[in-house]
Amino acid sequence: MFNLPRGTRDFSSKEMQKRRYIEEIMRSTFNSYGYNEIQTPTFETLELFKAKSGQEIMEELYFFKDKGNRDLALRPELTAPVIRFYVDKLQMEPKPIKLFYFGNCYRYDRPQKGRYREFRQAGCEIIGTNSPQAYAELITLAYKILENSGVADLKLNIGNLTILSSIFNQYKLTRDQQKYLIPLIDKSLFDDILIALKDFGIKSADAENLIDLLQSTDLKTIKNFLKDDSVKNEIEQLEQTLRLLEKAFGIKNYQIQMNIVRGLDYYKGIVFEIEAPILGAEKQLCGGGAYELISLFGGREAPSAGFAIGFDRTIVALESENYEFPITKLDIYVIPLGEDIIEIAIQIVQTLRNKGFTVDLDLLNRGLGKSLKYASSLNAKNVIIIGSNEIEQDSVTIRDMETGKQKLIKIKDIAEFIC
Ligand code: AMP
Repeated sequence: MFNLPRGTRDFSSKEMQKRRYIEEIMRSTFNSYGYNEIQTPTFETLELFKAKSGQEIMEELYFFKDKGNRDLALRPELTAPVIRFYVDKLQMEPKPIKLFYFGNCYRYDRPQKGRYREFRQAGCEIIGTNSPQAYAELITLAYKILENSGVADLKLNIGNLTILSSIFNQYKLTRDQQKYLIPLIDKSLFDDILIALKDFGIKSADAENLIDLLQSTDLKTIKNFLKDDSVKNEIEQLEQTLRLLEKAFGIKNYQIQMNIVRGLDYYKGIVFEIEAPILGAEKQLCGGGAYELISLFGGREAPSAGFAIGFDRTIVALESENYEFPITKLDIYVIPLGEDIIEIAIQIVQTLRNKGFTVDLDLLNRGLGKSLKYASSLNAKNVIIIGSNEIEQDSVTIRDMETGKQKLIKIKDIAEFIC
């Protein structure tokens, strides 16, 4: 007996049907927004992920040396590989470039419901524009993918890291102090943040004011607080993005949330997250925003933004909301009664398959009763029974599995009858 490695899963054919169904909805939504699908390798050089996320990433990476002594890692996410691909081959293409992808990712996380060591992401990157309409469209796309997939209850939070940095600077927090606070802010541990701020020598009233700002959902309050003119542009851009999101794209269900931090090192400007509250602890379905990675990877800097949706969590959210996935049925199951009928049965099966029907055939020479039972376990809509009587009349018997009604039909008329 061999066990599955911790944090990995097998998917039954029923589960795969659900997954493929949702993946197709996501894919067609990406396509409908003008994004084009790409694929990158499952493993990359270890250096790529270290360059993006620093030495700390090693803790969550699956990394190894290959037989040529090269340091490689299974990808923990897809933005770094896609930007590597862009810098290597796509820089000269007309802008903006809109790319999307599906891919399995690997992280040495602590497994629990909705958190795995192998999981699938659906994501996209837009390179070459930082216009408010590009950001509003990007956020709309993330929201619509989840909405079209059928998730009923979604919460969209929008923040801005340039503004957050400016708040930090106004409090004269050093880089190290900011680094210490970020994971606490990410987890909304406001009591711990208060203790830390006091330790940093910030007066009680100021510390409480900062906590209020981090929890504020009102852009006006944040604007009134900021003295720094350098973020004026950023605020105007954010306001225009939100206006377009609401008035042009029709996404009104969102909240400003200044405590979205993501990877503060390379994310810049707008950031957003989408949650499915029904999932409890692991409720984040999507994270994204604008970032600067291209020059770090040796390219000519261009504005870039993107998002990643946790595919597995989307499925868990749908299941938790009792979403009714369509059941895939087999169109036809064919039962030849007798060895001398196998050849003609196969010819009929192939003709029907070529016409686009999903068709299966008894491969065990079972009797009629057992074959019918097997056909209903396959969810067959129709069964074709072929005996010598039928063949003498150039016909087959077609049984409607829902009603149990049977009819003798000429072989040449099968496809038309079943349609
Ligand atoms: P991130 O790249 O960390 O922003 O993650 C993007 C999305 O991927 C998250 O919002 C989650 O939905 C999903 N995700 C991240 N880590 C895991 C994991 N270990 N297992 C399942 N889904 C994950």
